[in-house]
Amino acid sequence: MALKVYNVLSRTKQDFVPLNPGIVNMYACGITVSGDAHIGHAYQSVVFDVITRYLRYLGYDVKYVRNYTDVDDKIIANAARANEDPVEFAEKYIAQTDIEMDKLGNEKPTIMARATHCIDDIINFVQKLIDSGHAYVSQFGDVYFKLSSFNEYGKLSHIQVDKNDTGVRKETEPGKQNDLDFALWKSAKPGEIAWKSPWGMGRPGWHIECSAMNLKYLGEQIDIHGGGRDLVFPHHENEIAQTESLTGKQFAKYWIHCGLVKINGQKMSKSLGNGILLKDVLDKYDADTIRFALLRNTYSADIDITDSLFPESRRHIYKMYSGLMALNERDFSGADADKTNAKIDEIKNEFERAMNDNFNTLEVIASAFGWFNFINTELAKKSTEYDLKRIGNKIVELFGVLNILQKNPDEYINNIKSTVLKNSNITVGDIEKYINERAVAKQNKDWATADNVRTKLLDKGIVLKDTPNGTTWDINL
Ligand SMILES: [Zn+2]
Repeated sequence: MALKVYNVLSRTKQDFVPLNPGIVNMYACGITVSGDAHIGHAYQSVVFDVITRYLRYLGYDVKYVRNYTDVDDKIIANAARANEDPVEFAEKYIAQTDIEMDKLGNEKPTIMARATHCIDDIINFVQKLIDSGHAYVSQFGDVYFKLSSFNEYGKLSHIQVDKNDTGVRKETEPGKQNDLDFALWKSAKPGEIAWKSPWGMGRPGWHIECSAMNLKYLGEQIDIHGGGRDLVFPHHENEIAQTESLTGKQFAKYWIHCGLVKINGQKMSKSLGNGILLKDVLDKYDADTIRFALLRNTYSADIDITDSLFPESRRHIYKMYSGLMALNERDFSGADADKTNAKIDEIKNEFERAMNDNFNTLEVIASAFGWFNFINTELAKKSTEYDLKRIGNKIVELFGVLNILQKNPDEYINNIKSTVLKNSNITVGDIEKYINERAVAKQNKDWATADNVRTKLLDKGIVLKDTPNGTTWDINL
């Protein structure tokens, strides 16, 4: 069972064979910190976090580089609007995003690169492109990549561009020779943040930043380059043009792109005002719930964040943790070791088959429903031949690749319960009082009052269960 990866460059699913045996160098385009991170950023970061974790599970030594774009037009404009210094503005959002990514359960990438920390590398890169005839300096101190100098332009996106088109939007970018040429270095407007360069004061363009950081941290050729699908054109196409013009070698062997986020079936956009901020989701839901929701999808497909997505996801996670918790209350010492081992192998194979098929986390989660059904069915029996505790441990171990189900089940269940109680504005003491009130009503055969109590609690998300040992309660997710 070898890993197969859908390569956007070849548009086929290919066997994954890294450039150097045992080592994977991966770069994924990160966030432009012009404001709060949104759910689209969360989706992309979780996808590449899980890809990294699975490659490590397979035994690869993975170096994962991710960047923060910490200087660009939008950051400068938003900082000005907020009356803040653009560097401090970017710092603030980087610090905040770091905390949110950690809360989301993402492992820190091997290197978190930043554009403003690589200015010398960017300037060197641009100078080399000028020296080799792939770029030119305008009379205004801007540097442009000369698109007609790179024959393979369009090979990733399959977008055909007329490289000899000379239509120039002189009013927006004076000094450009060809409309399709793109900026490598932008001369500074008065008062703007700027760095010294051979072409005057200015700052890097967005595309060159990623090419320069790749070269600096990972070398001329890398195994995987990733990002959201919206980056294929022109960002990644431009990265290829820059890097391959400089090195004369193929840049990334595999290009992996995740789908985009929709909100209740609609494109997420500023104009629709339907954006969801990561911090707001993290306020309401725990990382297991969010990751489960985002990974119950094939990464290359768009994901639809419906109103019911996270609540439903939390229900599943709650059930899974409850299943794991129940395993601690039983003794499996008489179990059949061979049967248990066979079941564990079956689960491991199902997991690896799904993940080896282009990191199919949707399939993993679908299989996991089957595994938990198996556990619950066996648990319901008076006795079982399986050591369900060992099987549960294996599931938890495999789910480590998704970074889901890694918490102590008792703690998780208690946390969810207290969140629900807090949101419903009710305490355990209140619930116990209601239960007593209902018991008294039932004793007096006052069924209306008893029903009333039950309904009142249900409205607050609390469900009562009458057992031979008295009435217990649970949350009704
Ligand atoms: Zn990039």
